[in-house]
Amino acid sequence: MKLAGKKALITGGNSGIGLATARLFVAEGAEVAITGRDQETLKGAITELRPNARGYRADVTAAEDRKQLFSALAKEFGNLDIVFANAGISGRTVTGATDEAIFENIIYTNLNGAFFTVNSAVPLLNDNGSIIFNGSVHNHLGQSGMAAYAATKGGLVSMARAIAADLAPRNIRVNVVAPGATKTPIWKRGSRANDTAEQSAKLADFVSSSIALGRWGEPEELAKAVLFLASADSSYINAIELVVDGGMTGAP
Ligand code: NDP
Repeated sequence: MKLAGKKALITGGNSGIGLATARLFVAEGAEVAITGRDQETLKGAITELRPNARGYRADVTAAEDRKQLFSALAKEFGNLDIVFANAGISGRTVTGATDEAIFENIIYTNLNGAFFTVNSAVPLLNDNGSIIFNGSVHNHLGQSGMAAYAATKGGLVSMARAIAADLAPRNIRVNVVAPGATKTPIWKRGSRANDTAEQSAKLADFVSSSIALGRWGEPEELAKAVLFLASADSSYINAIELVVDGGMTGAP
């Protein structure tokens, strides 16, 4: 068991990559605290992972929610060894026609939400811990409509390097996992919520054709990379971005 006796906080642990990671962490001996906004999926995840999981409803963009979350964690869960700042949203922001509120929501969720989660978690983090941010291949792609999203994911990589320097004296490592196209509900949310079946199929084919391995990633494949960064297997890996994309960015 790679995480025996460890305690992990996973934001957005009620869906997609976060939930797959929570399952793997529990299987590897960890106790996990998962957060999300949606009560129903949160309840489902806790029921499935009981007795090794606790769930907390918290919006990463809301300062009051974070305050309540970390006060509850300190009382009910104790110190942390691992933080996976995973919660995030996608969204299209076509330059010249982007509403400021949509742009800000992406920034506040993906960048501010991740930073202030970690900022509040640090006092609870044990020495020798591990922090992992969930980035994206969009840090490297330069795709139309993704200005805000790409900025947040690139920002996480720069931020992780600086935080790694802040926390190095305590041997707390800080890294970013950068998923490529991964089969999760994010692809059916936000601006894609009203896509027709035909549009979804077209998008799925387009994405697959741009990946060297010719297929989408599974959330469980991302979870394995997060486990690697969270565990002692990566004890000398710090301040890096680990791209997990089936060759989307690295291969012709
Ligand atoms: P999901 O939509 O399945 O998961 C997103 C998670 O983030 C949900 O648990 C959601 O909780 C949570 N979340 C979103 N906004 C907030 C908020 N304001 N406060 C608290 N929680 C919030 O998608 P993924 O699993 O794919 O996404 C996880 C991460 O992976 C994201 O950061 C995403 O950018 C990144 N990523 C995903 C890729 C993919 O192809 N799937 C590719 C590259 C990166 P709730 O449902 O309760 O709102």
